[in-house]
Amino acid sequence: MVADPTITSFTIRDLRFPTSLDNIGSDPMNTAGENAHGYIVYHTDVPGLEGIGWSFSNGQGNEVLCAGINALAPRFVGRKLSSMTKNFGETHRNFLGGQTRFMSPERGVMQLASNAVLNALWDLWAKVESKPLWKLICDMTPQELVNTIDFRYITDVLTKPQALAMLTALESTKAQRMQQALADKAVPGYNTSVGWLGFTDTEVEAKLQDAVNAGFRHFKLKVGLGLDVDRKRLGMVRRIAGDEAVIYTDVNQLWDVDEAIEYMPHLADLNLAFIEEPTSPDDILGHSKIRAALKPHGIGVATGEHVNNRVMFKQLLQAEAIDAVQLDALRLSGINEILSVCLMAAKFGVPVIPHSGGTGMPELCNHISHFDFVAISGKQSILEYTDHCHEYFTDPALFTRGFYHAPTAPGYSCQITDEAFRRFECPQGEFWKSKRGLEMLGDPWRGCAAEQTS
Ligand SMILES: [Mg+2]
Repeated sequence: MVADPTITSFTIRDLRFPTSLDNIGSDPMNTAGENAHGYIVYHTDVPGLEGIGWSFSNGQGNEVLCAGINALAPRFVGRKLSSMTKNFGETHRNFLGGQTRFMSPERGVMQLASNAVLNALWDLWAKVESKPLWKLICDMTPQELVNTIDFRYITDVLTKPQALAMLTALESTKAQRMQQALADKAVPGYNTSVGWLGFTDTEVEAKLQDAVNAGFRHFKLKVGLGLDVDRKRLGMVRRIAGDEAVIYTDVNQLWDVDEAIEYMPHLADLNLAFIEEPTSPDDILGHSKIRAALKPHGIGVATGEHVNNRVMFKQLLQAEAIDAVQLDALRLSGINEILSVCLMAAKFGVPVIPHSGGTGMPELCNHISHFDFVAISGKQSILEYTDHCHEYFTDPALFTRGFYHAPTAPGYSCQITDEAFRRFECPQGEFWKSKRGLEMLGDPWRGCAAEQTS
């Protein structure tokens, strides 16, 4: 443990991984995405000690995310870490206020930017305590944990005293779950890397076989290409992984509400656990209607990767619209808000299955799933696993025998390697200066199937 550092300055960097070249992340709505980070480093008065955070975009527009981070980051310069974490719930509330609040509030790009800045504070705090972030949270007393949360807007379903009582009730069994976590048996994974939409059938088959050999029994495939194509791809999972395999499906907001209700029962005989993002992520009542209609067919509904704040999750839960809370590590305003959503999910008895399909998301979500299991829900869930780009992280997510390993390095596993910056920082990185990189940057329609030119 080191002394209480003061933040002295910050650096912001724009990093874009050309993931579209391998069809990574391709789905019915996004045909070519470059997983991108708006990355902030808070420098401190303690030599070698930095707080690192980043948030995510799909490539173009990442400069807007960086500008948002730049607008918010000065707020914590000159402050001692303890002055921010002492009552972190209040810090969180104040941070989302002020003139910049007009730009969202608590949604959109500014919410992503808030997330990057708060991630950097949490990373710094965990490093000062010499603990991985998930353990920092699990080692808190229930009172310390609820003090990191702003309960404004959710007290009609969950008050601070109620949250305190929920956490206290789990205390007597926490040590047991902590042992399970430390043995790398807390967070099983499901595999999304087998089923990106741009993969050929041969690629899907090969990746499925590899995934089965690696211990996966849960898979997610993109659907929405038409019933014949969908049935063929989903049938491959049944053939290669067997009848016991659990299959999730994802259509990335493609349909109107009634289209989802019409389409999905045609696939029900394939025994699908849920359909993810069947329609607009903002349509809470639409999700509720779809869920009610698909229930007799045994198909659940999941959403959350584009849910911006705790209020939307509150309503999704109140409206009985979801079977899985797919919160995103970057989309909410930071760990503080993520904790409040995990608590609400636990209260409603809906599992948290974080969205983890982009570069670096498994690294971050691994912390979230571990603290949700050990300290908040007390119930084992599952976490999305994707196999791309782990090599660009200094503390990569590790996965063996069907389980994520609990992170061990102090901090929030946010740090990117120097080599990745050398190649992928935008626009000065080696790749983005290449002919192909310049073509991709120069195509204003990149990712839009009907208009893309490069
Ligand atoms: Mg998805």
